[in-house]
Amino acid sequence: MTDGWFEDGERVGVLTAQPLDRMLDYRAPPGGCAEGAFVEVPLGPRRVLGVVWGPGQGGFDAAKLRSVARVLDAPPMREEMRLFLARAAEYTLTPMHAMLRLATRAPGLGESPAMRRIYRLGGGDPDRMTDARGRVLAVLRDHGGLAFTLGELAELAGVTTSVVKGLVAQGAVAEDEAPRDMPYPRLDPGLPGATLSPDQSVAAARLREGVAGGAYGTTLLKGVTGSGKTEVYLEAVAECLRQGRQALVLLPEIALTAGFLARVEDRFGARPAEWHSGITVTERRRVWRMVAEGGAQLVVGARSALFLPFRDLGLIVVDEEHDTSYKQEDGVLYNARDMAVLRASILGAQVVLASATPSLESWVNADSGKYARLDLPARFGAATLPEMRAIDMRAETLAANRWISPTLQQAVAARVQAGEQALLFLNRRGYAPVTICRACGHQIGCDHCDARMVEHRFLKRLVCHQCGETKPMPAACPACKVEGKLAPVGPGVERLAEEVTAVFPGARVAVLSSDLFGTARALKEQIELIAAGGADIIIGTQLVAKGHNFPLLTLVGVIDADLGLQGSDLRAAERTFQMMRQVAGRAGRADRPGLALLQTCQPDHPVIRAILSGDEEGFWRAEAEERRVAGMPPYGRMAGIVLSAPDVQAVFDFGAELARRDAPLRAVGAQVFGPAPAPIARIRGRHRVRLLVKAAKAVPLQAALARWVAQLPLPADLRLSIDIDPQSFL
Ligand code: ADP
Ligand code: ZN
Repeated sequence: MTDGWFEDGERVGVLTAQPLDRMLDYRAPPGGCAEGAFVEVPLGPRRVLGVVWGPGQGGFDAAKLRSVARVLDAPPMREEMRLFLARAAEYTLTPMHAMLRLATRAPGLGESPAMRRIYRLGGGDPDRMTDARGRVLAVLRDHGGLAFTLGELAELAGVTTSVVKGLVAQGAVAEDEAPRDMPYPRLDPGLPGATLSPDQSVAAARLREGVAGGAYGTTLLKGVTGSGKTEVYLEAVAECLRQGRQALVLLPEIALTAGFLARVEDRFGARPAEWHSGITVTERRRVWRMVAEGGAQLVVGARSALFLPFRDLGLIVVDEEHDTSYKQEDGVLYNARDMAVLRASILGAQVVLASATPSLESWVNADSGKYARLDLPARFGAATLPEMRAIDMRAETLAANRWISPTLQQAVAARVQAGEQALLFLNRRGYAPVTICRACGHQIGCDHCDARMVEHRFLKRLVCHQCGETKPMPAACPACKVEGKLAPVGPGVERLAEEVTAVFPGARVAVLSSDLFGTARALKEQIELIAAGGADIIIGTQLVAKGHNFPLLTLVGVIDADLGLQGSDLRAAERTFQMMRQVAGRAGRADRPGLALLQTCQPDHPVIRAILSGDEEGFWRAEAEERRVAGMPPYGRMAGIVLSAPDVQAVFDFGAELARRDAPLRAVGAQVFGPAPAPIARIRGRHRVRLLVKAAKAVPLQAALARWVAQLPLPADLRLSIDIDPQSFL
């Protein structure tokens, strides 16, 4: 091999996305191939996708070596990306084939560009409007100028292709020939941005300097909601574009992308590329390819966008960096925030972590000087932070099955009368979290999980929030067979909505809960409607805590501020603190002062007190100190091991055997705890047992863990997953 090029017939090592634990050797094809090339290789009777990772390993009969079947027409995977995947695999203890799958989530990525027929909004009006036609036009309007293939458009609108063709005949939809995978329109960093406040200017200048320096660095950008963090980091994006490098902005929630895309368009004159589960297959391919070729300057996306093949990435922004959705809890267990820092450090790129309520990890990293820190202390313009007060529920009188205290009720009524909005926050989907039989006391549980079924009246079903299993509400108790005695216990947002309608008969009520909306579009419409003043009282789950802008909102009532404090989770206090601050941040964003009222039975709880007093630094300092003393993350290292199997005895026995053979862990000073039933002891019929490994900060934990679990072969029906830095303890 010379200069990353393999000549015809040379032995190459190929990584495939097949579940094998090693690379496979092949011969370079006629004409040779580049290191990093995407290729198709024969594997048994099939051909599979792979990447030429380096020279072959040897040890194979050279005569039996097969040849690479085809080099795909895609830019080779860069060395930086290969290094990133390898390091991420090492850190998360993930097999390389699974990492490669994350990096190749674009169908047909090697197909050569060709012409295809595309459909976009036309100038004409249809002779008559039907429901189906309306849906097609709405899809096109929603995606602002994007074009679709016939099949995609019909599917998105839920119509047959003949409906689209009918609209083409009338000029309402335009049909074009276009090459596949067009570059994205150029973004112009030279357009004027907002006039920044002095604080914002200082922060923006520092971020610009960092980007212009062209080296690795991470900055925590901390500022209350509405302080202009987005405005400020867009200046860093502008600098990155000026340097001719690419930028990536990660958002925690698809529902937030629409608003953000509009802001990018305002600032830079065009829309960036979008990457999340809601985009079409064609668009997915286009993003992947344009990112690799440099035809996309800015990508806005979900956590998986980190694995796109950027040609020259100079900046990664992780907005709402504390958000739990950055931790992937399925398949490859990675935290996008940490992976962003890893990728940037390999690339020599800047990371901006933006949040009003940073994760304790990031706060500590900034405190210790590992990250830079910038603060935006005030809200932009006249907006002030809401006043926060507790309502002591022990002193309030509530009727049975009522959750809104008289004090909160009065406050809501006053806002509604003044033509303002009130938000009632309850982080519980559905109607009631528990259904109990008044005859025998039985609580309806899921047949497959160790969880209670949650009644959803809107869906007219019971739903298991663990596995998604649903069933109709039975007429008789499944245990004692008595009819008519099943009763809901406790409130979910749907039940709260019932109470609100009864207590405030004239008010317009909107419920924002992720399960009530079939599509991202329906949710977006509801959010826009609320922002425009289309509701007086909003009832919401954690969905509302995430960055939506409701200018008329002046009161936030937290129905149960104690809810998050009950868990046995290490991060319960941190999460409650973040959630309450975020929710309270929804109030009074425009020119009207806001008020947040927290219903609590423990007004003296340290977390509630910290929330109320607004002494954020005090809260983090105390929380950090507690973790330090206990040797918990981020001051110590942890890994969660979950074992699951259909047979409860088998899984416990295996766990106990692993725990007994802890020599590889003890050798590095790590300790193992368990096996214990996982907090959710059964999911989808599989019994779950967990072990927890704790170690000091400097310990090379991954290598020790790998040696430890390798001691015992896994029985066929037993699954083992290792979660480094577990976020949740379920
Ligand atoms: P954050 O990201 O911290 O929540 P945003 O950047 O979304 O804050 O700003 C909140 C609101 O204030 C937005 O509507 C934004 O357009 C506006 N805003 C912030 N800074 C400025 C500025 N310098 N000039 C004009 N409007 C601003
Ligand atoms: Zn279940």
